[in-house]
Amino acid sequence: MPLQIVHHPGYDAGFAVNHRFPMSKYPLLMQALEARGLASRDALAMPEPAPASWLKLAHTADYVDQVLACQVPERIEREIGFPVGPRVSLRAQLAAGGTVLAARLALRHGIACNAAGGSHHARRAQGAGFCTFNDVAVASLVLLAEGAARNILIVDLDVHQGDGTADILKDEPRAFTFSMHGERNYPVRKIASDLDVALPDGTGDAAYLDRLGGILPDLSARARWDIVFYNAGVDVHAEDRLGRLSLSDDGLRARDTMVIRHFRRLGMPVCGVIGGGYSTDVPALAARHAILFEVASGLA
Ligand SMILES: [Zn+2]
Repeated sequence: MPLQIVHHPGYDAGFAVNHRFPMSKYPLLMQALEARGLASRDALAMPEPAPASWLKLAHTADYVDQVLACQVPERIEREIGFPVGPRVSLRAQLAAGGTVLAARLALRHGIACNAAGGSHHARRAQGAGFCTFNDVAVASLVLLAEGAARNILIVDLDVHQGDGTADILKDEPRAFTFSMHGERNYPVRKIASDLDVALPDGTGDAAYLDRLGGILPDLSARARWDIVFYNAGVDVHAEDRLGRLSLSDDGLRARDTMVIRHFRRLGMPVCGVIGGGYSTDVPALAARHAILFEVASGLA
């Protein structure tokens, strides 16, 4: 069974190539996965847009209605970083539907990845920081509501703190949020996760992996997790435009291997999402995101 990969062409909302958000990384990631032989027909699954009833488990009804109607107040659009027109709205619904689908595939097969997702700055009442809907929070709450999972761990290794996920899940004892991020990165005002680890600027491979390796056993000892969501943001990379850490490609590969192998060995299903990555060299960025899929495929 090949690694199950969730993808939809609508993940790409077609921004201009010089936009601050590198939207073309989504189609380029799929090209990178095809070039690596990972995107065969029996490996790919296509999501439906998440219905409003799912989105409203994580977000206020007002905000969900605003996004679905493309009537998000300008103040919130500014915080998101782009206007929420029809393509952005659909993309957000598809990415959330995609993470729900990937989570279900992970429960069935042990591991699956969404070729989008990790929109962890979207809070309960609004989007922010290039994030419209919080796909991992939506998927967590859908699985809990359906009884498909009773204990959920979120391992968020994007370089930015997972403030939106922490906000949405802070009163949900069945979901444990862990974020390891750059201390001086966005967001300025962080919302406490169940466990936060803040790293100094310039942290490189060895120090990063050492810190992570010390934490993973603590996380898996806390509960028998029914599923682990893994935000594998590549903005920890030295060449990222927004990150302040200094990981190499080898460091990214070692990180993803460490996380996925740890939970797979314990028989805990892993649902990977790609998270952030910002670079003007978008093919290089797409290749960095492809590392998650290479590693996951090797451990599928
Ligand atoms: Zn990020």
